[in-house]
Amino acid sequence: MSTIHNIGFPRIGEKRELKFALEAYWRGDDDGRALDETVAGLQRHNLITQHQAGLDWLPVGDFSLYDHVLDTSFLVGHLPARVRDGTAASERDQYFRLARGRAPSGSPVAAAEMTKWFDTNYHYIVPELEADTHFSLNPEPLLQAIGTARELGVPYKPVILGPVSYLALSKARDNGADALELLDTLLPVYRELLETLGKAGAQWVQIDEPVLATDLPDAWRDAVARTYAQLHHADHRPSLLLTVYFGPLRDNLDTVLGLPVDGLHVDAVRGADEVETIHRRWPRERVLSLGVIDGRNVWRADLEALLDGLEPLHEARGDGLWLAPSCSLLHVPVTLRHETDLDPTLRSWLAFATEKLDELATLGTALNRGRGAVADALTESTRIHNERRGAGSVVRADVRERVTGLGAEPFQRASAYPDRAEVQRRRFDLPLLPTTTIGSFPQTAEIRRTRSQYRQGRIDAATYDTFLREQIAHAIHEQEAVGLDVLVHGEAERNDMVEYFGEQLDGYAFTHFGWVQSFGSRCVKPPVIYGDVARPGPMTVAWSRYAQSLTRRPVKGMLTGPVTMLQWAFVRDDQPRRDTAFQIALALRDEVADLEAAGIGMIQVDEPAFREGLPLRADERPAYLEWAVGAFRLATAGVRDDTQIHTHMCYSEFNDIIESITAMDADVITIETSRSDMELLEAFTDYRYPNEIGPGVYDIHSPNQPATADMVRLMRTAAERIPVERLWVNPDCGLKTRSWEDVRPALQNMVAAAQELRGGI
Ligand code: GLN
Ligand code: ZN
Repeated sequence: MSTIHNIGFPRIGEKRELKFALEAYWRGDDDGRALDETVAGLQRHNLITQHQAGLDWLPVGDFSLYDHVLDTSFLVGHLPARVRDGTAASERDQYFRLARGRAPSGSPVAAAEMTKWFDTNYHYIVPELEADTHFSLNPEPLLQAIGTARELGVPYKPVILGPVSYLALSKARDNGADALELLDTLLPVYRELLETLGKAGAQWVQIDEPVLATDLPDAWRDAVARTYAQLHHADHRPSLLLTVYFGPLRDNLDTVLGLPVDGLHVDAVRGADEVETIHRRWPRERVLSLGVIDGRNVWRADLEALLDGLEPLHEARGDGLWLAPSCSLLHVPVTLRHETDLDPTLRSWLAFATEKLDELATLGTALNRGRGAVADALTESTRIHNERRGAGSVVRADVRERVTGLGAEPFQRASAYPDRAEVQRRRFDLPLLPTTTIGSFPQTAEIRRTRSQYRQGRIDAATYDTFLREQIAHAIHEQEAVGLDVLVHGEAERNDMVEYFGEQLDGYAFTHFGWVQSFGSRCVKPPVIYGDVARPGPMTVAWSRYAQSLTRRPVKGMLTGPVTMLQWAFVRDDQPRRDTAFQIALALRDEVADLEAAGIGMIQVDEPAFREGLPLRADERPAYLEWAVGAFRLATAGVRDDTQIHTHMCYSEFNDIIESITAMDADVITIETSRSDMELLEAFTDYRYPNEIGPGVYDIHSPNQPATADMVRLMRTAAERIPVERLWVNPDCGLKTRSWEDVRPALQNMVAAAQELRGGI
């Protein structure tokens, strides 16, 4: 019998129940009892769903109130000194204080840093290592989760984050702390944990070491070997399933194959090429778990094709072959069940977490009882695959020809930046240190209410249109009153910077409940790119033209760039990402041309997700950067010399990609820098970045009003690094989450700072 199991299940609930329960608790609308109930309900529901799917082992401990790395910090008793003080009434409030700076009880503290979980859109709470860091086991929450599984009588497998990945994901807060040195003090706690789990009755423990899918220095690879040699000796320990995902093992393969663990799970989607080698070299008497169902995307699998590869392995390994999703299903939505508005054909091509488990079950049955036992499901899977491949909504000859026919010319602006800058200077005649904003103005309750009324058909298109024009006029007047030099229309018509465009492009589809956790209670609903992307008509021209008609100052057109449009979506798995990016770029190129023809002189193409697309492995990065830069240039290079192209990026480190950012060749880039005190600007100094740049002078997320003097100081720092003629003054990101009461004085102060600097830098 081959075994089927799961690596992790989404926590947020089918309708984001966890989000709403958390936020009610944080607001103080709930004393914690409702949250307890919701959490218990979700945990049981998740287990029951997975049990009903027929899994042999269900993950426990994968659920989290906020983040599983933060859970691990609590599990190993590792909290920074500032939250150890115990002012919170409960451990849960301690947990929230560390996660988000405050909780219903306890004084506010600095929230821990948050960063991207590998190459996903999930963000984890970074563990902080201090010189006096010590660890001590706190297994209660995990034991409680196990208790729930036992009550339900389902077969469970505790999931823990491995010690090497835990340390690799943490950050030293002072010089005395060295992650690798701490390993020796951490390992006894993991040994004790394994013993505790063994005594609690666990037969298997899934121990996740996703860092083994990344480039590891030798010292870290040695640490892996040392770690598992030690954990192997834990008394009464359960069997260990070492679990790696998010990519192939490559240069870590030999290390992994030498570990004394009882089972090995590998990512057989991204690491498909390695499966044969691993099968050959991994001892037959140990478990080999293949992550064959894609945990990072939403497409149904081609089950018959998978079985062709799996049957010989099953023949050879028998019971020792396990099947699973490639990684935790945290990164896909919970279920398709509620997507009743989705086109039925497209819907039949999709599998979210729950449906992926059904696919797994079908594979398991086919291996154990023969394909005949699931003949219908297999026929259906194959039919769907063929249908998708040939569907008219997927393959569009006109779009494909346009991409394949691209020569070098469409990627190249007519003149080099210095010549363009000259023409643009004459056209716009801006003062030194021009002031602008990043695009969005407050999305007020009124705007959101009116949009939802329109969506529900309670107001008609004409009424909605008039309303949006009023909002644009308001934004323009506010900006003129503040005295900004380059204006924006304010993006009142946009619910979301990707969704707004996706809804107007062919090849994109949207779900109602396709939410995926981004961090804590924050979820995103990525669109699904299912077909060749094309633009049926202009998307933003009317709004921009209207905004420009209201003022003599330049109004920037505002688009979301091709890489971000791709990166924040579920993408096709039937063509390279590059091809999809180029299709989107061509659609945007037409929009850019239409904006230019409508008299819009400055066009901003936002790429906040540009850096996020970087592959995990260094040797794959150049190829990514090449097409990502190419897509941006394709979208923007078609304009005249006197049309000024802007771009915006936020929350990125730029040092390692500065050549690529330069190669994008935007006339102006605005970036987030204020929180790092202009440190980020180092990448952009004189010699390295030749075009214009607006380093954000204030943090739009901060509740505090930015002071003119601070902004003056920041710009002076910037001017030490970049010639003042090439500097702009702007906030560090869009203002949609702020209120006009915040925005107005902040921008007034910012304009005052620019004026002061113009008087002498
Ligand atoms: N133009 C967008 C805005 O201002 C950019 C958002 C972003 O950087 N994420 O909202
Ligand atoms: Zn931004």
